[in-house]
Amino acid sequence: MRVLVFSAHQYEENVLRGFAGDKHKLAFTPEKLGIDTVDLARGFDTISLFTSDDASAAVIQKLAEAGVQFIALRSVGFDHVDLEAAAAAGIRVANVPEYSPYSIAEHAVAMMLTVNRKIVEGRMLMNLQDFRVDSLTGFDVHGKTVGIIGTGKIGMAFAAIMKGFGTTILAYDPVENPEAKGLGVRYVTLTELLNNSDIVSIHCPLNAATKNLLTMKQFKQMKRNAMLINTARGGVINTSDLVEAIESGILRAACLDVYENEKGLFFEDHREDVLKDPLFARLRSFMNVLITGHQAFLTTEAIAGIAKVTIANVDYWQRQMRSPNEIVLNTQVTMK
Ligand code: NAD
Repeated sequence: MRVLVFSAHQYEENVLRGFAGDKHKLAFTPEKLGIDTVDLARGFDTISLFTSDDASAAVIQKLAEAGVQFIALRSVGFDHVDLEAAAAAGIRVANVPEYSPYSIAEHAVAMMLTVNRKIVEGRMLMNLQDFRVDSLTGFDVHGKTVGIIGTGKIGMAFAAIMKGFGTTILAYDPVENPEAKGLGVRYVTLTELLNNSDIVSIHCPLNAATKNLLTMKQFKQMKRNAMLINTARGGVINTSDLVEAIESGILRAACLDVYENEKGLFFEDHREDVLKDPLFARLRSFMNVLITGHQAFLTTEAIAGIAKVTIANVDYWQRQMRSPNEIVLNTQVTMK
């Protein structure tokens, strides 16, 4: 198969080539898919997309006109693809439903500890040769209550780590995971979870039901001094409400690997640019908000896992078989 890989990153090109071997001819472009770049797909019946790509209805239409028939996503999330438009255009889409849930769960924990134990401030003071520790007090995670929104693969990996910390774990998910019981996870309503958790971590997908799941109303329901972690998708949180909640002291801190308006920002070098995003500027200005640029998945194991399944999905397509990872409307979509 001739495959055009959009939003190709240096970290993945050789890994993808390795799994493709002689079976597929891969072409790479750092360009993001969008209405201005869709013509690059001409001549390829298969393309591969990342979360930063835009496969909205208008782009899908153009992809179909260009002859694209199969999209191999290099991500779990598929909120950047208009699946209805793809189905209508006869374009099939497959994702990577699982690679290393540990990569994201461990990053969430890393962020939580970094903010709680003021590691960034400690490093700054160390550089200044200011060895006082008065401003660096954190809290014991042990004995606290952790609320997990979404107990799929990543949520459960996070729960397993949190169990090791000696926490009480509450969860909110419309579909209960049978594995959760073994970890002592107790399912509650979203309100109960917010009312009682010292740390809330989001691990649900972004879809119509979860868009802006957390707004000021929900922040006000959270325990005073609670910490919020979001490694799922920025759109699950209303960011402008989050900024207000941080400013007014409703939340102790936030750890964000994703941001509602990250498209066109994250994964790109903007060192020479003046960023025109006042919301992001405010968010970045808080010492109690730690932001990373959608890097939670970035471990060697995860990169290999993504590449392997992406190429396996293309293999299925080449053999004119349906990959088990194909996203079929009204099944995976409503479940996820
Ligand atoms: P998953 O499908 O295994 O689990 C998602 C869980 O969310 C499911 O249990 C589902 O029932 C639950 N859910 C659905 N709607 C919900 C709702 N309204 N409220 C609460 N829970 C709900 O997916 P996963 O592999 O655990 O990944 C979760 C999300 O993490 C992905 O959709 C993706 O957006 C995000 N992600 C982020 C990164 C990153 O690098 N930051 C990497 C991979 C995935």
